[in-house]
Amino acid sequence: QAREEGWGNLVVFDPSMLERAMNLMHIEMDLYRALERDEFFLVYQPIVNITCRRITGFEALVRWNHPDKGTVSPTEFIPISEGTGQIMHIGKWVLMDACQTMARWRETYPEFEDMVVSVNLSARQLSQPGMVEQVAEVLRETALPPQCLRLEVTETMLMGNPEFANMTLARLKELGVKLCIDDFGTGYSSLSYLQAFPIDTLKVDRSFVGKMSREPGNFKIVQAVVALAHSLGLEVVAEGVEEEEQRIMLSELRCESGQGFLFSRPVPGDEVPNLVFAALEALEECTLRGVA
Ligand code: C2E
Ligand code: MG
Ligand code: MG
Ligand code: MG
Repeated sequence: QAREEGWGNLVVFDPSMLERAMNLMHIEMDLYRALERDEFFLVYQPIVNITCRRITGFEALVRWNHPDKGTVSPTEFIPISEGTGQIMHIGKWVLMDACQTMARWRETYPEFEDMVVSVNLSARQLSQPGMVEQVAEVLRETALPPQCLRLEVTETMLMGNPEFANMTLARLKELGVKLCIDDFGTGYSSLSYLQAFPIDTLKVDRSFVGKMSREPGNFKIVQAVVALAHSLGLEVVAEGVEEEEQRIMLSELRCESGQGFLFSRPVPGDEVPNLVFAALEALEECTLRGVA
């Protein structure tokens, strides 16, 4: 027995563990260089009116074009960058790029006048001193009207230190930006805080939306979240809408907006204007047929 030989816990040496540790270390090191090497880029997923499918905005989602690994998902590198503190720099880059791009679209195309770009914040970003000033600076520099920016935070991020979070959200709200709770239903929210936070929108997590057409329990959850949101004066975005059946159900529940593969996958920025034009054409055709 290894234990008797004094090897303790180290006896169970699994080479895949070393591989994973090495991989993590490499990603950490590569992350440090990723910004200066300009390896991050944003993709944009439309958020649409669930009933008429009009595009009302986009969620900006970050991607990492790694020199050897290709495109790396944010679910892989955002948690790592939270650990190393790199998230501060990445987060600022995301905010700047998203606002710059939306400001440019607005200047170029009248179709973008009322569009909103949503940007995800990470836990560490939200608690960072100077966060509010950073947002204000980005808005000033890009000249994006504040109401065209929506910041997404999760319940878990808010409930760690709700008083501080509430204060930060209130200061962000004062800038005129929109605020939204992402992945709603997967964390623990105190309902009393939910009504106190100065938010505009709840995004129902896709784990409920995805199963609502097959499982009555999940349908009921979505129904209850929409009712709760509306009674608090909040709008609802359903995440992960993949099927027409879900869209119809959500529309019947008076959910305002949807986001998901049914409407579009996230697309690179240079494809966004054409996506908007095509969607508007489809919308017009639809109206024409309705009138005829
Ligand atoms: P999220 O904010 O909840 O973003 C929605 C995720 O769901 C995106 O994954 C999107 O591609 C995916 N999705 C959209 N529609 C569908 C659908 O119909 N079906 C399915 N199965 N999935 C759908 P993505 O881009 O991989 O991002 C994952 C998470 O990474 C995001 O979840 C967000 O928490 C985080 N993230 C992404 N970009 C950023 C960023 O710039 N900063 C921070 N802090 N986090 C980010
Ligand atoms: Mg989000
Ligand atoms: Mg989400
Ligand atoms: Mg989600």
